[in-house]
Amino acid sequence: MVISHSVNLQPYNTFGVSAVAAHFANIQKREELEEAITFAEVEGLPTLVLAGGSNILFVHDFPGVILHIGNSGIRWLGGFPGSTQRVRIAAGENWHSFTKLCLDKRLYGLENLALIPGTVGAAPIQNIGAYGVELADFFVELSVYDRQSRSWEVMNKSQCDFAYRDSVFKKAGKGRYIVFDVTLELSGIWKPNLNYAALGNYLGGGKPDSKMVFDAVCAIRRSKLPDPSRLGNAGSFFKNPIISDEKFTVLSKQMPDIPRFDIEEKGLVKIPAAWLLDRLGWKGGSRGAASVHRNHALVLVNPGGATGEDILLLAQEMSSSVLENFGIALEPEVQII
Ligand SMILES: Cc1cc2nc3c(=O)[nH]c(=O)nc-3n(C[C@H](O)[C@H](O)[C@H](O)COP(=O)(O)OP(=O)(O)OC[C@H]3O[C@@H](n4cnc5c(N)ncnc54)[C@H](O)[C@@H]3O)c2cc1C
Repeated sequence: MVISHSVNLQPYNTFGVSAVAAHFANIQKREELEEAITFAEVEGLPTLVLAGGSNILFVHDFPGVILHIGNSGIRWLGGFPGSTQRVRIAAGENWHSFTKLCLDKRLYGLENLALIPGTVGAAPIQNIGAYGVELADFFVELSVYDRQSRSWEVMNKSQCDFAYRDSVFKKAGKGRYIVFDVTLELSGIWKPNLNYAALGNYLGGGKPDSKMVFDAVCAIRRSKLPDPSRLGNAGSFFKNPIISDEKFTVLSKQMPDIPRFDIEEKGLVKIPAAWLLDRLGWKGGSRGAASVHRNHALVLVNPGGATGEDILLLAQEMSSSVLENFGIALEPEVQII
């Protein structure tokens, strides 16, 4: 395994901000991960797992070892013909390419999660979700290196403790688990999930096939979200806040048009952070070289030349304004390093 030194991370994060990592290890095999961790421990350095860099904001240089997970391989594990199929995917595989492969193989379920940037290994970290579907819906198990027990483990769905943009991997000590492969179960029987209104409306009723849903999701995403290869961003910067029914009743008296999404937990509702930010006029706003996308108040962008600190200051100002005006503390979805 090769460890490079003084590596600029600008090409490795979709915000496109500069930050220098003291050491950078390209990991393809399990032994290479263990070697890189030993190197960091011997040198007394912190580590950070970095994959596609589409959910990370670097605010400073990183003084330790970047563990860049780039393993590859997809293993079809079989299943019940015409019903379900299990598949084990290496963490370094690209998520969107994998959803396209499933579509081509007539294995269904991931259409609504098409075009989410990043890798398969990062998908369980925040339980990626879009258009009424989340990774947990198809999840079977994953292989991780547990730095606490210094061993390779297999974790099932309940051990992963998935929730809205959350999992045990975020709750456990940062960097404790390093995901190496993920096993999913997909259906061989097509059943569209059109519960999300924007998707159903786009398709306009009828009985869409899987390719129509896949293409619709890609088209809606392309029309709403900036392409990170053209305009630096990390998708939604904040999570949608979950508040109590009582709090919602108070807010809806002030703002009768405030939207709500019902969630499984009783007595709680989810409200769109973008709506709150939009109401405060943040769409298209800017501070220094960082700005808010003109069509989407939840997407912070780097039009060129912004530092991680510029983006963080803008995000802090936005969340303070939501707290002052609505009494709601926004939580970042992006990992701030
Ligand atoms: C334009 C755009 C749209 C987006 N839309 C969505 C969306 O609709 N829904 C959604 O959920 N997300 C969305 N995201 C966020 C992002 O795509 C996902 O969070 C994605 O899973 C991040 O993958 P990554 O490989 O880039 O991870 P990185 O950004 O490299 O890492 C993210 C976090 O996961 C950790 N991590 C990464 N890989 C591993 C591993 N193998 N083991 C342990 N920890 C690991 C990192 O340490 C870091 O804390 C969007 C981002 C962009 C830029």
